[in-house]
Amino acid sequence: MLDDILKNAILILKTLEDNGYEAYMVGGFPRDYVLGIKSDDIDITTNAIPSEVQRIFPNNFFKSIKFQTVTVVMNSYTYEVTTYRTESNYKDHRHPYTKVSTSLKSDIRRRDFTINALCMDKELNIIDYTNGLNDIKNKVIKTVGSPDVRFFEDALRMFRAFRFVSKLNFKIDIETYQAIKKNAHLVKYISKERVKEELIKMLNAPYFEEALPQLIESKILSEYKEIEHALSYLYARYRKVDLILLLSLATFFKGSICEELILSKRERKLLEKIYEYTKLLTSRSFSRESLLDLDIEAFDYSFELMNLLDNLTYNKDDVLDLYYSLPIKSIRDLAVNGMDIKKVFKIKDSPQIGEMLKRALTLVIHSRIDNNAHEIIEELKKEYNG
Ligand code: ATP
Ligand code: MG
Repeated sequence: MLDDILKNAILILKTLEDNGYEAYMVGGFPRDYVLGIKSDDIDITTNAIPSEVQRIFPNNFFKSIKFQTVTVVMNSYTYEVTTYRTESNYKDHRHPYTKVSTSLKSDIRRRDFTINALCMDKELNIIDYTNGLNDIKNKVIKTVGSPDVRFFEDALRMFRAFRFVSKLNFKIDIETYQAIKKNAHLVKYISKERVKEELIKMLNAPYFEEALPQLIESKILSEYKEIEHALSYLYARYRKVDLILLLSLATFFKGSICEELILSKRERKLLEKIYEYTKLLTSRSFSRESLLDLDIEAFDYSFELMNLLDNLTYNKDDVLDLYYSLPIKSIRDLAVNGMDIKKVFKIKDSPQIGEMLKRALTLVIHSRIDNNAHEIIEELKKEYNG
């Protein structure tokens, strides 16, 4: 039984062939198919130029003119159909000059690793110009052509090598690995966004632990010292972490927010909160007050981080029990607000209002009084001789 995603890809190949063109599935899909790994993304390569692909498939949109890619929708499945191309004259070790080509072989030669250079026809036969099947069998990651040249052209490929180690638990071929070490300094040409994307993919893949020793040793992260430091720590006592936890570890070691990657607003806020909680936890000054307006996500991360640091001064369940036992969880839950205080105490806007609210909050969360307007006002009257 073929998956619908594969059936529809075959339909695209047939349609292109019926129109006189060649077309193959290529890249990650044939690799994963040979390995028996389920994959939900099929790239197609063809000698039809984009305008022809668009003519043949009415249900399409142009994804990238520069890369000659048309996204074709077939029975609600989407496929990237890319015209054979060659790449040359890489500028800044990352962006190639791309040219349409008429031969499948030249399209294959531009691909990064032999395991990613297999093609598959509509009968699911594998076309293997680079000995990729053998490398899959031997579980090795080897560049198509000279590794030194290929990494010099596009430095991102070095990160991709580690990504495939993390995904497949393959080994990097010796010559390929030597070339990574030699070209590691070119990582400075890769944008921080791309490095972040690759790191996320690596960390989320099942065999990141296998990639870790060489990822550190190769020095491809030497432009990212804080992250490298955190990864070295992780290497010594491995635990699966995501990007946020890794950056929290780097932040903890640095003593301020790790800014080596471009952070979204949400990520930054989360890291700041985690760092704040971590400081409270390590200084043993975690209190009921720290639990107000608790950010549960950041709280969970800070405990994971403490675990990673073998620094469990507090028991998470005890702290959570305390949190759930608090009569109110935020100053906004108080039975009185600033307006009430203004009226009762006949004071204008002044810092005193805030101070009184804070005092009321302390009394309530320490259960010295109930969260009840009358009780709060009476207590404040006593303390502030109203
Ligand atoms: P995944 O399963 O993680 O998506 P993939 O092999 O499909 O892996 P993609 O990033 O989706 O990886 O790229 C698709 C294909 O494009 C690759 O298999 C490879 O043939 C080619 N490719 C991608 N990036 C590069 C690159 N920087 N240099 C050369 N070829 C590349
Ligand atoms: Mg892919």
